[in-house]
Amino acid sequence: MNQRQVYRLRAPASGREAMAPIEPGAVYVDRETGEEMWPVTRTLPLAPSESALLRTPEDLRICPRCEQLIGLDVSDCPYCGLRQPALDGGS
Ligand SMILES: [Zn+2]
Repeated sequence: MNQRQVYRLRAPASGREAMAPIEPGAVYVDRETGEEMWPVTRTLPLAPSESALLRTPEDLRICPRCEQLIGLDVSDCPYCGLRQPALDGGS
């Protein structure tokens, strides 16, 4: 099973952030500044039922309360529990 976990990366000096799937031993460098970036948080909890879905940044949104990145199809924030608004406005 491919269970690449997407992490949020941060460059300590500039505070710039990016997202990338972390691979052991890899070093992540900011495209713009060349500064080394460090993982600060996982973007999503791993769940067996989601392991087949490869998530990309386009599949994520930011929780308005805790500002963690969560999946578009997640109805409740896994970090703070905030109910997420519907994407399409319902019927
Ligand atoms: Zn939240």
